[in-house]
Amino acid sequence: MTLGEFSVIARFFSRPVSPGILGVGDDAARLSLPPDTDLVSCKDLLIEGRHFFSDVAPATLGHKALAVNLSDLAAMGAKPLACLLGIGLTAPCPDWLGDFADGFYRLADQWQCPLIGGDTISSDFGTVISVTALGTLPKGELGLRRDRGQIDDDLWLSGDLGGADVALRALQGDDKISPELLAATRERLERPEPRVALGQALLPLAHAAIDVSDGLAQDLQHLLKASHCGAEIQWQQLPLHPMLQTLPENIKRLAVLNGGDAYELCFTAPKRSRTDIEQLAIALSIPLSRVGSLTQAPGLRLHHGNGLVESLSAQGFDHFKRGEQHG
Ligand SMILES: [Mg+2]
Repeated sequence: MTLGEFSVIARFFSRPVSPGILGVGDDAARLSLPPDTDLVSCKDLLIEGRHFFSDVAPATLGHKALAVNLSDLAAMGAKPLACLLGIGLTAPCPDWLGDFADGFYRLADQWQCPLIGGDTISSDFGTVISVTALGTLPKGELGLRRDRGQIDDDLWLSGDLGGADVALRALQGDDKISPELLAATRERLERPEPRVALGQALLPLAHAAIDVSDGLAQDLQHLLKASHCGAEIQWQQLPLHPMLQTLPENIKRLAVLNGGDAYELCFTAPKRSRTDIEQLAIALSIPLSRVGSLTQAPGLRLHHGNGLVESLSAQGFDHFKRGEQHG
Protein backbone atom coordinates (compact mmCIF):
# COMPACT_ATOMS: atom_id res chain seq x y z
CA MET A 1 0.00 0.00 0.00
CA THR A 2 1.37 3.40 -0.88
CA LEU A 3 0.46 6.53 0.97
CA GLY A 4 0.53 10.02 -0.48
CA GLU A 5 2.03 12.95 1.35
CA PHE A 6 -1.33 14.37 2.36
CA SER A 7 -2.72 11.11 3.62
CA VAL A 8 0.41 10.55 5.73
CA ILE A 9 -0.07 13.91 7.41
CA ALA A 10 -3.82 13.56 7.79
CA ARG A 11 -3.68 10.01 9.05
CA PHE A 12 -0.69 10.03 11.37
CA PHE A 13 0.31 13.57 12.29
CA SER A 14 -2.91 15.54 12.74
CA ARG A 15 -3.84 14.80 16.34
CA PRO A 16 -5.82 17.57 18.02
CA VAL A 17 -4.04 20.50 19.63
CA SER A 18 -5.31 22.97 22.22
CA PRO A 19 -7.93 25.52 21.18
CA GLY A 20 -6.15 28.72 20.27
CA ILE A 21 -3.40 26.95 18.33
CA LEU A 22 -3.65 26.69 14.56
CA GLY A 23 -1.73 23.46 14.01
CA VAL A 24 -1.22 20.99 11.17
CA GLY A 25 -3.36 21.60 8.09
CA ASP A 26 -2.74 25.17 6.95
CA ASP A 27 0.25 26.78 5.22
CA ALA A 28 1.79 27.64 8.57
CA ALA A 29 0.99 27.17 12.23
CA ARG A 30 0.02 30.00 14.53
CA LEU A 31 0.17 30.18 18.31
CA SER A 32 0.53 32.85 20.98
CA LEU A 33 3.54 33.03 23.25
CA PRO A 34 2.60 32.86 26.94
CA PRO A 35 2.74 36.32 28.56
CA ASP A 36 6.18 37.58 29.64
CA THR A 37 8.19 34.93 27.83
CA ASP A 38 10.90 34.86 25.17
CA LEU A 39 11.08 32.25 22.43
CA VAL A 40 13.81 29.56 22.38
CA SER A 41 14.26 27.22 19.42
CA CYS A 42 16.41 24.29 18.35
CA LYS A 43 16.56 21.69 15.60
CA ASP A 44 18.09 18.26 15.19
CA LEU A 45 18.51 16.10 12.11
CA LEU A 46 18.57 12.28 12.22
CA ILE A 47 19.62 10.20 9.22
CA GLU A 48 19.11 6.45 8.80
CA GLY A 49 22.37 4.50 8.99
CA ARG A 50 24.16 7.38 10.67
CA HIS A 51 22.06 8.35 13.66
CA PHE A 52 19.82 5.30 13.94
CA PHE A 53 19.81 1.70 12.78
CA SER A 54 17.54 0.82 9.86
CA ASP A 55 15.75 -1.80 11.94
CA VAL A 56 15.18 0.37 15.02
CA ALA A 57 11.67 0.05 16.40
CA PRO A 58 9.67 2.97 14.95
CA ALA A 59 8.10 3.94 18.30
CA THR A 60 11.59 4.18 19.73
CA LEU A 61 12.71 6.37 16.85
CA GLY A 62 9.68 8.61 17.26
CA HIS A 63 10.56 9.04 20.91
CA LYS A 64 14.22 9.75 20.26
CA ALA A 65 13.63 12.22 17.42
CA LEU A 66 11.75 14.48 19.82
CA ALA A 67 13.78 13.60 22.93
CA VAL A 68 17.06 14.92 21.52
CA ASN A 69 15.41 18.28 20.88
CA LEU A 70 13.71 18.46 24.25
CA SER A 71 17.12 17.75 25.75
CA ASP A 72 18.50 20.86 24.04
CA LEU A 73 15.60 22.93 25.40
CA ALA A 74 16.31 21.45 28.85
CA ALA A 75 19.96 22.45 28.58
CA MET A 76 18.79 26.06 28.17
CA GLY A 77 16.37 25.83 31.08
CA ALA A 78 13.51 26.35 28.63
CA LYS A 79 9.95 25.08 28.87
CA PRO A 80 8.68 23.21 25.78
CA LEU A 81 6.04 25.09 23.77
CA ALA A 82 5.53 23.21 20.48
CA CYS A 83 7.37 21.22 17.85
CA LEU A 84 7.51 20.71 14.09
CA LEU A 85 8.43 17.50 12.28
CA GLY A 86 10.00 17.01 8.86
CA ILE A 87 10.17 13.43 7.66
CA GLY A 88 11.56 11.89 4.47
CA LEU A 89 10.57 8.28 3.75
CA THR A 90 11.59 5.84 1.02
CA ALA A 91 8.43 3.73 1.25
CA PRO A 92 5.73 4.94 3.65
CA CYS A 93 4.39 1.96 5.58
CA PRO A 94 1.22 2.50 7.65
CA ASP A 95 2.30 0.24 10.52
CA TRP A 96 5.71 1.89 10.75
CA LEU A 97 4.21 5.40 10.64
CA GLY A 98 1.57 4.55 13.21
CA ASP A 99 4.17 3.29 15.67
CA PHE A 100 6.52 6.19 14.97
CA ALA A 101 3.69 8.67 15.59
CA ASP A 102 2.74 6.88 18.83
CA GLY A 103 6.29 7.14 20.17
CA PHE A 104 6.55 10.78 19.12
CA TYR A 105 3.18 11.87 20.50
CA ARG A 106 3.65 10.02 23.79
CA LEU A 107 6.71 12.11 24.63
CA ALA A 108 5.13 15.26 23.18
CA ASP A 109 2.09 14.76 25.42
CA GLN A 110 4.29 14.05 28.46
CA TRP A 111 5.89 17.49 28.16
CA GLN A 112 2.90 19.34 26.65
CA CYS A 113 4.78 20.05 23.46
CA PRO A 114 2.15 19.79 20.69
CA LEU A 115 3.12 18.95 17.12
CA ILE A 116 1.91 21.99 15.19
CA GLY A 117 3.33 21.48 11.70
CA GLY A 118 5.92 19.98 9.45
CA ASP A 119 6.45 18.38 6.08
CA THR A 120 6.58 14.90 4.57
CA ILE A 121 8.56 14.02 1.46
CA SER A 122 9.70 10.89 -0.32
CA SER A 123 13.40 10.17 0.08
CA ASP A 124 15.72 8.19 -2.19
CA PHE A 125 18.38 7.87 0.50
CA GLY A 126 16.70 6.27 3.48
CA THR A 127 14.65 7.78 6.28
CA VAL A 128 15.47 11.34 7.30
CA ILE A 129 13.86 12.99 10.31
CA SER A 130 14.18 16.58 11.43
CA VAL A 131 12.46 18.02 14.46
CA THR A 132 12.30 21.67 15.43
CA ALA A 133 11.40 22.34 19.04
CA LEU A 134 10.12 25.67 20.33
CA GLY A 135 10.30 26.60 23.99
CA THR A 136 10.05 29.58 26.27
CA LEU A 137 12.11 31.28 28.93
CA PRO A 138 10.82 33.95 31.34
CA LYS A 139 11.17 37.33 29.59
CA GLY A 140 14.69 38.65 29.90
CA GLU A 141 15.99 35.42 31.47
CA LEU A 142 19.33 34.55 29.85
CA GLY A 143 18.88 30.81 30.30
CA LEU A 144 21.52 28.22 31.13
CA ARG A 145 23.89 29.39 28.42
CA ARG A 146 27.24 27.75 27.83
CA ASP A 147 29.09 31.01 28.39
CA ARG A 148 27.80 31.72 31.91
CA GLY A 149 30.13 29.38 33.84
CA GLN A 150 32.22 31.10 36.52
CA ILE A 151 35.55 30.19 38.08
CA ASP A 152 35.06 28.11 41.28
CA ASP A 153 31.59 26.98 40.20
CA ASP A 154 30.80 23.39 41.10
CA LEU A 155 30.41 21.08 38.13
CA TRP A 156 27.42 18.70 38.21
CA LEU A 157 26.02 15.86 36.13
CA SER A 158 22.51 14.43 36.08
CA GLY A 159 21.74 10.72 35.89
CA ASP A 160 24.50 8.38 34.82
CA LEU A 161 26.82 8.04 31.84
CA GLY A 162 28.13 5.25 29.64
CA GLY A 163 25.05 3.07 29.19
CA ALA A 164 24.09 4.36 25.74
CA ASP A 165 27.66 4.03 24.47
CA VAL A 166 28.04 0.45 25.68
CA ALA A 167 24.74 -0.51 24.02
CA LEU A 168 25.66 1.25 20.79
CA ARG A 169 29.03 -0.45 20.51
CA ALA A 170 27.43 -3.83 21.16
CA LEU A 171 24.69 -3.26 18.56
CA GLN A 172 27.29 -2.16 16.03
CA GLY A 173 29.25 -5.34 16.68
CA ASP A 174 32.29 -3.49 18.06
CA ASP A 175 32.11 -5.04 21.53
CA LYS A 176 30.64 -8.28 22.77
CA ILE A 177 28.61 -7.86 25.94
CA SER A 178 26.20 -10.09 27.80
CA PRO A 179 22.52 -10.08 26.81
CA GLU A 180 21.74 -8.85 30.35
CA LEU A 181 24.03 -5.85 29.95
CA LEU A 182 22.60 -5.02 26.54
CA ALA A 183 19.07 -5.28 27.91
CA ALA A 184 20.02 -2.98 30.80
CA THR A 185 21.72 -0.32 28.68
CA ARG A 186 19.70 -0.33 25.46
CA GLU A 187 16.97 1.88 26.90
CA ARG A 188 19.55 4.60 27.52
CA LEU A 189 20.48 4.58 23.84
CA GLU A 190 17.04 4.24 22.34
CA ARG A 191 14.73 6.00 24.77
CA PRO A 192 16.67 8.81 26.43
CA GLU A 193 14.60 10.80 28.93
CA PRO A 194 15.19 14.51 28.34
CA ARG A 195 15.80 16.37 31.61
CA VAL A 196 13.12 18.95 30.93
CA ALA A 197 11.90 19.49 34.50
CA LEU A 198 15.45 19.61 35.81
CA GLY A 199 16.55 22.25 33.30
CA GLN A 200 13.72 24.59 34.28
CA ALA A 201 14.28 24.02 38.00
CA LEU A 202 17.98 24.86 37.61
CA LEU A 203 17.32 28.34 36.18
CA PRO A 204 17.63 30.12 39.56
CA LEU A 205 20.38 27.79 40.84
CA ALA A 206 22.83 27.15 38.00
CA HIS A 207 25.02 29.35 35.83
CA ALA A 208 25.73 27.34 32.68
CA ALA A 209 24.66 24.02 31.18
CA ILE A 210 25.05 21.75 28.18
CA ASP A 211 23.45 18.42 27.40
CA VAL A 212 25.83 15.50 26.90
CA SER A 213 25.09 14.39 23.34
CA ASP A 214 28.57 13.88 21.86
CA GLY A 215 30.53 12.74 24.93
CA LEU A 216 31.31 14.44 28.24
CA ALA A 217 34.90 15.35 27.38
CA GLN A 218 33.84 17.08 24.18
CA ASP A 219 30.62 18.71 25.34
CA LEU A 220 32.15 19.99 28.57
CA GLN A 221 34.96 21.58 26.61
CA HIS A 222 32.42 23.52 24.54
CA LEU A 223 31.13 24.95 27.81
CA LEU A 224 34.63 25.67 29.13
CA LYS A 225 35.66 27.41 25.94
CA ALA A 226 32.53 29.56 25.91
CA SER A 227 32.98 30.42 29.60
CA HIS A 228 36.73 31.14 29.22
CA CYS A 229 37.79 28.78 32.00
CA GLY A 230 39.02 25.25 32.67
CA ALA A 231 37.82 22.45 34.92
CA GLU A 232 38.99 19.71 37.26
CA ILE A 233 36.87 16.56 37.40
CA GLN A 234 37.20 13.60 39.76
CA TRP A 235 37.03 10.16 38.15
CA GLN A 236 35.64 8.67 41.35
CA GLN A 237 32.72 11.10 41.32
CA LEU A 238 31.66 10.56 37.70
CA PRO A 239 28.27 8.79 37.65
CA LEU A 240 28.92 5.51 35.88
CA HIS A 241 25.87 3.49 34.78
CA PRO A 242 25.54 0.91 37.61
CA MET A 243 25.73 -2.08 35.26
CA LEU A 244 29.10 -0.94 33.90
CA GLN A 245 31.09 -1.35 37.12
CA THR A 246 32.46 -4.75 36.16
CA LEU A 247 33.63 -3.80 32.65
CA PRO A 248 37.36 -3.34 31.89
CA GLU A 249 38.74 0.08 32.84
CA ASN A 250 39.42 1.17 29.26
CA ILE A 251 35.83 0.42 28.17
CA LYS A 252 34.40 2.23 31.19
CA ARG A 253 36.61 5.19 30.54
CA LEU A 254 35.64 5.51 26.87
CA ALA A 255 31.96 5.05 27.67
CA VAL A 256 31.90 7.69 30.40
CA LEU A 257 34.23 10.31 28.94
CA ASN A 258 33.65 9.92 25.22
CA GLY A 259 30.35 8.05 24.86
CA GLY A 260 27.61 10.04 23.14
CA ASP A 261 23.83 9.85 23.29
CA ALA A 262 23.63 10.30 27.07
CA TYR A 263 21.31 13.33 27.03
CA GLU A 264 22.16 14.09 30.63
CA LEU A 265 22.72 17.68 31.76
CA CYS A 266 26.21 18.87 32.65
CA PHE A 267 25.85 22.15 34.55
CA THR A 268 27.82 24.59 36.67
CA ALA A 269 26.51 26.26 39.82
CA PRO A 270 27.89 28.41 42.61
CA LYS A 271 28.77 26.65 45.86
CA ARG A 272 25.88 28.39 47.63
CA SER A 273 23.46 26.36 45.46
CA ARG A 274 24.70 22.98 46.77
CA THR A 275 21.96 22.35 49.30
CA ASP A 276 19.21 23.45 46.91
CA ILE A 277 20.58 21.23 44.16
CA GLU A 278 20.77 18.23 46.51
CA GLN A 279 17.15 18.86 47.51
CA LEU A 280 16.17 19.20 43.87
CA ALA A 281 17.66 15.76 43.16
CA ILE A 282 15.37 14.29 45.80
CA ALA A 283 12.31 16.26 44.69
CA LEU A 284 12.70 15.21 41.04
CA SER A 285 14.06 11.71 41.79
CA ILE A 286 17.02 12.39 39.49
CA PRO A 287 20.55 11.60 40.74
CA LEU A 288 22.71 14.72 40.63
CA SER A 289 26.46 14.21 41.10
CA ARG A 290 28.97 16.93 41.96
CA VAL A 291 31.94 15.88 39.86
CA GLY A 292 34.40 18.77 39.96
CA SER A 293 34.78 22.52 39.62
CA LEU A 294 35.65 25.26 37.16
CA THR A 295 39.14 26.73 37.28
CA GLN A 296 40.92 29.80 36.05
CA ALA A 297 43.55 27.56 34.43
CA PRO A 298 42.29 26.52 30.98
CA GLY A 299 41.88 22.90 29.91
CA LEU A 300 40.15 19.88 31.39
CA ARG A 301 41.97 17.80 34.00
CA LEU A 302 40.85 14.42 35.24
CA HIS A 303 41.90 13.47 38.78
CA HIS A 304 42.23 9.77 39.45
CA GLY A 305 41.91 8.53 43.02
CA ASN A 306 45.60 7.60 43.21
CA GLY A 307 46.89 11.14 42.76
CA LEU A 308 47.33 10.84 39.02
CA VAL A 309 46.12 13.88 37.10
CA GLU A 310 45.47 13.57 33.41
CA SER A 311 44.86 16.29 30.85
CA LEU A 312 41.89 15.46 28.61
CA SER A 313 41.43 16.55 25.04
CA ALA A 314 38.03 16.76 23.38
CA GLN A 315 37.87 13.27 21.87
CA GLY A 316 34.14 12.93 21.81
CA PHE A 317 32.09 12.30 18.74
CA ASP A 318 32.66 14.67 15.84
CA HIS A 319 29.92 14.36 13.23
CA PHE A 320 32.28 15.37 10.44
CA LYS A 321 35.26 13.23 11.35
CA ARG A 322 34.03 9.81 12.36
CA GLY A 323 31.50 7.47 10.84
CA GLU A 324 29.83 6.27 14.02
CA GLN A 325 26.22 6.62 15.02
CA HIS A 326 25.25 9.22 17.49
CA GLY A 327 22.21 11.42 17.79
MG1 LIG B 1 22.90 20.04 22.93
